Formats: sequence, C-alpha cells, structure tokens
Amino acid sequence: MPFASAESIRVLGAREHNLRNVSIEIPKNKITVFTGVSGSGKSSIVFDTIAVESQRQLQATFPAFVQNFLPRYERPHAEAIENLTAPVIIDQKAVGGGPRSTVGTMTDIYALIRALFARFGSPSTGLVYDYSFNTPQGMCPDCDGLGVAITADPNKLVDRAKSLNEGAILLPGYNVGSGDWQMYANSGRFDADKKLADYDDAEWHNLLHGSGGKVELSFARGTWKANYEGLVDKFTRTRLKRDTSGLSEKTREQIQRFLTEGVCPSCRGARLNPKALATKLGGRTIADWTRLQITDLIEVLGEIEDPAALGLADATRIALQRVADIGLGYLSLDRATSTLSGGEGQRLKMIKHLGSTLVGMTYIFDEPSVGLHPRDVGRLNRMLAALRDKGNTVLVVEHDPDVIQIADHIVDVGPRAGAHGGEVVFTGSFAELKQSDTLTGAGLRRTFRVKETFRTATGTLTVANAKAHNLKDVTVDIPTGILTAITGVAGSGKSSLIRDEFLARYPESVFVDQSAIAASSRSTPATYLGLMDPIRKLFAKATGEPASLFSFNSDGACPECGGRGVIITEIAYMDPVTTHCESCDGRRFSDRVLALTLRGKSIADVLELSAEAAVEFFPERALNAKLRTMNEVGLDYLSLGQAMSTLSGGERQRIKLATQLQNTGTVYVLDEPTTGLHMSDVDTLLTLMDNLVERGNTVVVIEHNLDVVAHTDWVIDLGPDGGKNGGEIVFTGTPAQLLADQVSLTGEYLRRYKSAA
Ligand code: ADP
Ligand code: ADP
Ligand code: ZN
Ligand code: ZN
Repeated sequence: MPFASAESIRVLGAREHNLRNVSIEIPKNKITVFTGVSGSGKSSIVFDTIAVESQRQLQATFPAFVQNFLPRYERPHAEAIENLTAPVIIDQKAVGGGPRSTVGTMTDIYALIRALFARFGSPSTGLVYDYSFNTPQGMCPDCDGLGVAITADPNKLVDRAKSLNEGAILLPGYNVGSGDWQMYANSGRFDADKKLADYDDAEWHNLLHGSGGKVELSFARGTWKANYEGLVDKFTRTRLKRDTSGLSEKTREQIQRFLTEGVCPSCRGARLNPKALATKLGGRTIADWTRLQITDLIEVLGEIEDPAALGLADATRIALQRVADIGLGYLSLDRATSTLSGGEGQRLKMIKHLGSTLVGMTYIFDEPSVGLHPRDVGRLNRMLAALRDKGNTVLVVEHDPDVIQIADHIVDVGPRAGAHGGEVVFTGSFAELKQSDTLTGAGLRRTFRVKETFRTATGTLTVANAKAHNLKDVTVDIPTGILTAITGVAGSGKSSLIRDEFLARYPESVFVDQSAIAASSRSTPATYLGLMDPIRKLFAKATGEPASLFSFNSDGACPECGGRGVIITEIAYMDPVTTHCESCDGRRFSDRVLALTLRGKSIADVLELSAEAAVEFFPERALNAKLRTMNEVGLDYLSLGQAMSTLSGGERQRIKLATQLQNTGTVYVLDEPTTGLHMSDVDTLLTLMDNLVERGNTVVVIEHNLDVVAHTDWVIDLGPDGGKNGGEIVFTGTPAQLLADQVSLTGEYLRRYKSAA
C-alpha cells in the first residue's frame, strides 16, 4: 500500500453503477485528479460513492430534528469507505439563491461594503442593515429590493390603431358600452371616434394616468358618478397592487398578458431606497460601487484615505482580489447569480471557500476548467493548490491536461465507458500517466495538428451593431456552410454575441447547450429519442399483447410501485422516504410483463441495454438508425432506460445533438461541446461536426479546446480581455492565420500548444 492508512481515504469494493469492485486509496492533503473517458465511472467513484458517504456520515452526527430537514442519502454500494473528512462539493449546478442573490451577496463581499458605507459614508445612517436590499430598512419600497418592477404595459392594454368607439381598450370587461368603457368614452376628455395613434401627448397621458373630476356612468338600473382614473393607474390599483391570491388561475393568467417586466423606475434597478442611495463614499453611492466591474472597484477602494477605514477597505480589497485572481474580475457585485454560467458559478463557490479558515476538509470539483480559456487555467491551478496547502484534500474530475498535470496523484478510470469501464486502470503521477497504455495516456501523447485546408463559406449571416452587455457596437459575418469557432477569454463576450445577438437575429438556428431538458423522472434516452413506440410495437407483435402493456406509465406498471421502481412512503412531519421496490426489484414492470419476451429479452432487459448493445439487438431499419445516432455522439455506453435527470450536462448536450443528426440546411450553435469529454472522444466530436457540415449544415461552436479550434474552418476571436476590456472582435480568419496573429490571446496559446506538442 503506497499510503499509510490514516493518511488516506480508503474505498473498498465499490459497486455503484458500473463500478466493478473498485478499491482505492486517495492520499489526504493532496490533489488527486480522476481521469477517464466519459461514462467510465469517475463520477460514480467521486460523487456517488465518496461524496455521498461523506455527506451521509456527516448528517448522521446532526440531531434527528435537524436531519428531518435534510435530503436523505442512501448508503453507496461499497464494502467499506474509511477515513473520510467533511466534504465540500463544488459542482456546476446553478448557483441558485433566487432573485435576491447577487455576486456581492453570494461572496459576502457586499456585507463588507455595507459596513464601509454605514461607518464611513456621508451622510451615513450608521446601520449596516440600512444598505441591504434584503431588509425592510434598506429595500426600495416599490420593488421590494428586487430592482425590477412588473408594470402594466400600455401597448398591451390598448390597440392604438382603433378609437374608443372601435374598442381600442383590450382589457376584459372594457367592451364598448360597458361601465368601465364609459369612464373614458363619456369623460369628455377624448374624441371617442379618434384613433389612439392620433392622440397628442396630453390626451395620451390623460388616458393612461389622468385624474380628477367625475364621470357619469349609466347602467340599466340608473346612473352613477365615479372619480376619473387613468387606465394604467386603475389597472395597477385594482389588479396589481391588491392581494391577488384570491383570484382564479385563469384571471391571473389574463392579467399576466397585460404586464411587462422592466427596471424598477423608482430605484432604477439599484434595489435600495432613496435614503440608502443618498449616502456617498468617495463621491459614489453604494449602487455605483456595485455596478463597477470588480477590477475597477479594487481601484476605487485604493482611493480611500481615511485611516480609520483602511482596515475594512483592505479586507474588502483582498476579497475582491480573490475574485479577480480566478479570472472573474469582469463581473460586478450587482450581477444576479441567476445569470452566471455554470463555470462562473463554480469558480465563485470556490472563492467563498478560499476565504474560509476551516481546514481538513475534502473539496470535490467537477471539471473546474469548464468555460476557461487556456490563459486562465493557470489561475485555477493556483487556487486548487492554495486549497490543498491550507490543509485540505482536493479531488478533481477533469479532462484538461493542463489541470491534470498539477495532480499529486492521478486515478485513471476505464478502460472504456459503461459496461466496458468501471475499473481503476492506472494510479500514479502525470509523468507515469503519459507513458501508460490507457486511453488517457494515449490522449496525452496525441499529436496536435492545425488544419491546412479549409472549406469555403457558402454565404454569411451578418450580426450588425451588436451591443448586448459588453459588446462594443460589433459587426461581424458568421460564415455559412462551414465550421466556425467563437473563441476568447471568459467574459470577452462570446455568449453575448452568439446567444443574445446572433440567436435573436436568426431564431431558426438550433442552439444545443447543456441546460436541463424539461424532463420528468420518467423520461429516458429511449423516450427522448422516440424509441419507445417502435420498441413497444415489436414487443406487441412478438407476444400478441397490446403495445401499451410495455410501458411503465400504463397497464404494464409494477402494481407495488406504480412503475417508479421505488416506493415513496409519506410519514407525518418527515420528508418522504424512498425505498427500492422489492416487488419488481426496481425494474418498474409487473411480473406478467416481465415474463413476456422479444428474442429472449423482457422489456426491462431491453431498457438496461446500452445503446451499443441495442444497435446489435434491433436490426430494424428505422429503430437501428435512431440508435446509431447515440453511438455517433459518443453515448454508446448509455443505457436506454437511464433516467434523463441523472445525465451530466455534457451527456445532455450530446443527446440533444443525437436528435439533430439527420437534418440539412440548418444552423447549429454548440456551446462548449467538449465539456465532460475525454481527449480520446474529441475526435468523435470533430467527426460529428464535420458530418453535420458535409450534410449541408452550418456549425458554429463556442469553444476553448484548442484541438477543436485548430480543426475549424474559421475563427472569430473576441477580446482582448474580459468585461469592459473585451467586447471587440480581435481576429477573424482561418486557424492557420490565427497561428500567425500577434494580437489574439487565443493565437498565442495556439502557438504555445503547437510547440509543446
Ligand atoms: P463519468 O463520470 O466517468 O463520466 P459516470 O460515473 O457518470 O462516468 O458513469 C459511469 C456509468 O454509470 C455510465 O454507464 C453511466 O451511464 C452510469 N450511470 C451514471 N449515473 C447513473 C445513475 N444515476 N443511474 C444509473 N446509471 C448511472
Ligand atoms: P463569454 O461568453 O465570452 O464568457 P459573456 O458574453 O458571458 O462572455 O460576458 C461578456 C460580458 O457581459 C461580461 O462582462 C459579463 O459579466 C457580461 N454579462 C453577460 N451576461 C450578462 C447578464 N445576463 N447580465 C449582465 N451582464 C452580463
Ligand atoms: Zn426599486
Ligand atoms: Zn415495483
């Protein structure tokens, strides 16, 4: 054994998912990187075995009352897992936190800034809570501190092409002749035959916001004098400001149609009340501070001279510097966390922990290089090393050789994916891994090649005057009929250009990203790819039973668990407890259905087949072709019946791609498709993209992976840096031309990569 037992985490006989009796030792207080092809079992070891058991044991130490509020972890399938330390899991799941969470609140830096304003601002209120948009003392009363306001949209309330007599008011209940309609038509303020489009400013204001005076309204039973009130004001008072909880779902939906969400007009998005916004420090309000990009805010802090304030200012600067050091200096503290990318969120979570003084933890990272330009991987590596050097154990699942090389210890999982994986095929150092005959070893020895011949574009899709976020009035042509890479450091504006500007202009494009597929726990690759109908029909034909029987959503379901495979027990005052269904052994079907077979396999057996095995099992043309698409996108190891909710982001992206492979003449936009992809699988991806192009499609790929960039026909590089220092096009041309470009950072790293290869 290479490590003394107390100094290492020990896993014995792990069998979670595809793991085949895995036993390993992981040194404590070191960086261990887990490598291996996608689907080999890295996450099954790190997340589903080590992390789950750590969380489970940690939770067992809490009082029973507290445990009731926490998620329940089932004991992982392993003989023993020993010497664990408290886990901190830093993954790419959305940061969450709701609409009140910002970069400032999430990192706790906003609390430091509030303290600065409370103590040293002028005029100061003296209380830190007065500067919080999440407390009644500080929040803008009109938007409750959200910075956005839901208001009535005049353009939705009326049809300007009509006059009042023609029914210009679109609100329900305001039809011509009704009491509500008379309020305006009989007010004497308007010519009821004049089209609203012809109203002058005074009439328009009168209609929407006028007040004062009475209008006589006549009804069948008599007349009634009512106070005049503008249409928007009335709608807001009666429909928006009052408690809407008593309204029916339908009425609420109706109201929704007339609303628009925009920046709160009272605080202009600053979220705070006027009293908080009156305080200034260094000539700026607290909202001005949080709007600044972090690198600029660091400079503003440097301008503080009051000796009493220096301590707090320094603490704030150090915290901000940590954010800048990891390459997120282009963010601002007021940025809502809900708008951050997975990689940005993960790096922010990391910063929180770097500031922590807890030691002896196990930090677990899921591909932290996601979204990082090669330039910034070095910063990430320094952060990982800093965590280790503080006295923590760091476990990282990663594909990027630049991160793998800083490992103290490497565990390579394989040899391949799914049923062909699940073993530890190598442990040792980076130098040893490079010599090894595993797929990862071979990947590290791969030769890097920049393409020499390039396809010519068949046309262009122009994006003119793009200004979203940091884009500086950019105009660029995206070539059609070829493969184009969009590159640039994080925050340079790639997503702003492609997601916000390009897709808005060319909405018929197909955007393939890693976001969740709206899916229930009952959806699987087989349902998503439309395989279930043909499969059920084959079973029906072979058995003489109705096709519907072969669905766990209907007649064929296991009667005990209703087709869930698990039994959910509700206990008073407690979270529902989920247990494995003994009756069907998690297979979801009734015994009767499980006894019916097609070519020797039951429907449950078929759902357990990997895509690769299913291609052999189903020679039927149409079905076979659909199954092959899973293999083409590199998901041959995935079983047909695995819940979609358990797929990784990269797997989700590839399965979305699988449904698209038969199209022609389509524009595809892929957002970092190498996420979760092993070096040896990059070739599969490149072939896939080439095939899409050869079939007459246009492929645009946002990507940092230099193997992918070097393989494209055209590169559009954004920069030069992130945030306000980015937002320009620094280079357009072929990868060969990029190699010679002296300005682009991507060009520089392409050269380095080439000479290292
Ligand atoms: P990696 O992290 O190396 O990409 P995983 O550990 O995620 O690999 O997957 C290993 C195998 O286990 C794959 O065949 C995958 O489809 C399967 N698997 C992963 N998660 C689940 C799950 N929740 N249920 C069933 N099978 C799973
Ligand atoms: P990239 O895709 O190259 O990483 P982005 O387009 O995401 O860059 O970001 C470019 C700039 O726009 C950054 O300063 C970023 O903080 C800002 N930005 C991106 N999305 C938003 C958003 N939803 N709200 C405010 N600012 C944003
Ligand atoms: Zn407001
Ligand atoms: Zn059951």
